[in-house]
Amino acid sequence: GWQYRFPARQFAIMCGRPLLDRVVRDRVLTSDRIRLRQRTEAVALVGDSVRVSGVEVYSLENGTRETLEADLVVDATGRRSGLRRWLSALGLPPVEVDIVDAGIAYSTREFVAPPGATGGFPAVNVAADHRTGQPGRFGVLFPQEGGRWMATLSCTRGGKLPTRSESFLPCAQSLPDPLLARLIGSVEPLTDVFVSHIGANRRLYPGRLNRWPDGLIIVGDSLAAFNPIYGHG
Ligand SMILES: Cc1cc2nc3c(=O)[nH]c(=O)nc-3n(C[C@H](O)[C@H](O)[C@H](O)COP(=O)(O)OP(=O)(O)OC[C@H]3O[C@@H](n4cnc5c(N)ncnc54)[C@H](O)[C@@H]3O)c2cc1C
Repeated sequence: GWQYRFPARQFAIMCGRPLLDRVVRDRVLTSDRIRLRQRTEAVALVGDSVRVSGVEVYSLENGTRETLEADLVVDATGRRSGLRRWLSALGLPPVEVDIVDAGIAYSTREFVAPPGATGGFPAVNVAADHRTGQPGRFGVLFPQEGGRWMATLSCTRGGKLPTRSESFLPCAQSLPDPLLARLIGSVEPLTDVFVSHIGANRRLYPGRLNRWPDGLIIVGDSLAAFNPIYGHG
């Protein structure tokens, strides 16, 4: 069905991930207090269960390991963070975690936006209908930089997703509302179909540990990573 209309007070800035990463990276690197280590992985925390005093890093360039000492370590390694494992290695009890895995997958294709439907064009969201008792199926269309539209079809576990270009439009046509299919039906595709399996919703509960080491904080998806459709990034 349709969401009822209400006065819009929120807005979203739509762009592709490479552009977002590029803008953030360029801005960060204008600070001479920040040094970027390319092709370097954090592999362990240094310290003990009372205080984290640094990070052990591994260079993918030359295969060496090195300890970086720090007053404050920020885990921002995203939804595949090794934090629980790293904390256990310091002798802390396991951090509690909630995992809800609906088996979400995405199938995405980009198109040339028609003239007049680029900047300012609204995001389109055909939501899943939970009343069907079937695996959830939904689709979105987001305008992007460079006069492009990005269309994504998605399903929960057991649903069928298009993996080939020729099945993308028929799948969009089978959504609960034809709006998305109508929009992409007459525009020129720019890419093939990309399928991604997102992984589970996952939330850590560091606050439930009865002790937490000084010198360590967690931000972003390392702490809580949900279905990307929420746009929580
Ligand atoms: C398919 C998809 C679509 C999404 N769409 C949207 C959207 O439209 N809008 C929105 O707001 N959010 C969206 N999100 C969510 C958003 O991307 C995340 O919430 C956000 O990127 C989290 O930021 P972060 O900095 O915590 O982690 P990330 O952006 O995941 O960054 C973590 C970084 O750490 C690096 N890293 C990982 N492990 C290590 C290690 N051991 N050592 C060194 N570096 C490491 C990774 O390479 C990565 O660069 C989407 C997510 C996905 C997966």
